[in-house]
Amino acid sequence: LLGNETIKAELGRASWKLFHTILARYPEKPTAEEKEALSSYIYLFSRVYPCGECASHFQKLLKKFPPQTSSRIAASQWGCHVHNQVNARLGKDIFDCNTIAEKYQCGCDEEGATESG
Ligand code: FAD
Repeated sequence: LLGNETIKAELGRASWKLFHTILARYPEKPTAEEKEALSSYIYLFSRVYPCGECASHFQKLLKKFPPQTSSRIAASQWGCHVHNQVNARLGKDIFDCNTIAEKYQCGCDEEGATESG
């Protein structure tokens, strides 16, 4: 049987993967509606995240570091920064935010991109 800490960690890894992949594929020049959609998604995510302790810490982080939705770079760097805040609190290594564009690909089409990602 998996311990609770192991289950919590697996949920965290899966959640961060989706979170960073969404931010890495967010439009480079988002419309007002796209900005609103991302902001809503992030705040709702912080309310429904099933680890209550994690959710309440994350809500505090969002107050201190509100979601940055002006561009793909702003959003993905913001996401890396808030994950690093969680890493720091949990005593984990700080991640190098220069590498997120290559790390978080979706395998989906984008103008000028191949499907290999
Ligand atoms: P994770 O932190 O899960 O990271 C997964 C992978 O992402 C890493 O291996 C690395 O390749 C990459 N990565 C690491 N840092 C970054 C970054 N800054 N930007 C981009 N990619 C990165 N656990 C608790 O015990 N207490 C909590 O309060 C808590 N709060 C959480 C809040 C949220 C919103 C989420 C999504 C998770 C939370 N977790 C919490 C889980 C915790 O963050 C980890 O997911 C879990 O401990 C597993 O850690 P890990 O070392 O495998 O790497």
